[in-house]
Amino acid sequence: MANIAIIGGGIGGLCTAFALQQGGHDVTLYEGAAMFPLPGAGLGVGANALRALDRLGLKEPMMEHSKILRKMIILSDKGAVITETDSLLVSERFGTDNVTIHRADLLLVLRNALKPGTIVFNKRCVDFVQEQDGVNVSFEDGETIRADAVVAADGIGSLFRRTLVPGSTPRYAGYTCWRAVISDPGIGIDDHVATETWGPKGRFGIVPLAGGQIYWFACVKAKARDPQIAKYRINELLSIFKDYHRPIPQIIQATDDASLIRNDILDIKPIPHYAFDRIVLLGDAAHATTPNLGQGAGQAMEDAYILARCLETARDMATAFKEYERKRLDRTAKIIKMSNQIGQIAQLENKWLILLRNAVLKQVPPSVSMKRFEFLYDADWD
Ligand SMILES: Cc1cc2nc3c(=O)[nH]c(=O)nc-3n(C[C@H](O)[C@H](O)[C@H](O)COP(=O)(O)OP(=O)(O)OC[C@H]3O[C@@H](n4cnc5c(N)ncnc54)[C@H](O)[C@@H]3O)c2cc1C
Repeated sequence: MANIAIIGGGIGGLCTAFALQQGGHDVTLYEGAAMFPLPGAGLGVGANALRALDRLGLKEPMMEHSKILRKMIILSDKGAVITETDSLLVSERFGTDNVTIHRADLLLVLRNALKPGTIVFNKRCVDFVQEQDGVNVSFEDGETIRADAVVAADGIGSLFRRTLVPGSTPRYAGYTCWRAVISDPGIGIDDHVATETWGPKGRFGIVPLAGGQIYWFACVKAKARDPQIAKYRINELLSIFKDYHRPIPQIIQATDDASLIRNDILDIKPIPHYAFDRIVLLGDAAHATTPNLGQGAGQAMEDAYILARCLETARDMATAFKEYERKRLDRTAKIIKMSNQIGQIAQLENKWLILLRNAVLKQVPPSVSMKRFEFLYDADWD
């Protein structure tokens, strides 16, 4: 069995560490942060991703912290229904649920599943050299380790991707996103229904989490790295969304400035390769996508399962990595493209285009929209 170094302890790196340990590999995960990166908000885990976790044996501990969604609804700023997806139909047809979880809970579940001592913190990788029979990885503290292979799960800014695929710099999607988790202040949301409200001033999502918590997000068009936007706190968000339907203003008002997290939304234009002999890219390092399909972390979970399967069945490491690449390239590229398009439609600001969009979407029968997303849930991995 191989000695494998994983760089990056996000959802992708942790799932992969677990999957490869199950396959009997000797795994060490090197995380650049000094301690476990626990901040974060909510996360939607699609039925496809939950199936990957199930096959890995991680579904059960995760479900203790999760909430099953019954419906996903898109609303106008005045609260009229634009489209509705029956998530229980997805559960029925594909055998797993769409769920939500607090990111910190998921990270803890994944970390606790690993063998003690698997993760080494404060290990920021700064360089690597691939040789015929192994990879040397150097860290900021001066240490260099040697591994039979490297899984680069170092996120959207991946040092490995930037080096191996020159020019693969993140693209800004044109909107920024605030997120927060609050305890339900008693505003009476249906706690098995996630909503997204698409209005002229931006998009607002409300997602129930387990334990009476609510995850919300607000996406607004902005310049990249806008210094004015960086100063926005609850008061500014309230003034953007004050005319949106209930309980959006109430939810914003119930949030502390300190709980806000903000990211400009980025993705990576699909790249042609994930496998480079003894190095393989995984998760956001390989295929970061905008969050409009709620699939970024889900794809990292699928990656972990498929990579482990390929290592089980292929005759050698490089062949396994190539097989993983073959199975992952088209699917992840399709998700990046589709998610990007949904973001452009969801962030429309022109009132005539919004009226047109809402009218068209209302006409789409549920069976047609289910068909469009079938490829997400009906993945054939083996
Ligand atoms: C607003 C928003 C909402 C989202 N919502 C969802 C959702 O609902 N559902 C979903 O599935 N996905 C969602 N995503 C996407 C999801 O968060 C990511 O796809 C996922 O977290 C990627 O995991 P990862 O492990 O690949 O990368 P990361 O989480 O970025 O982890 C990379 C890790 O590598 C470490 N690292 C980086 N460089 C180095 C280095 N040189 N040396 C050592 N360590 C290093 C970092 O510290 C980090 O811990 C959302 C994203 C955003 C921005």
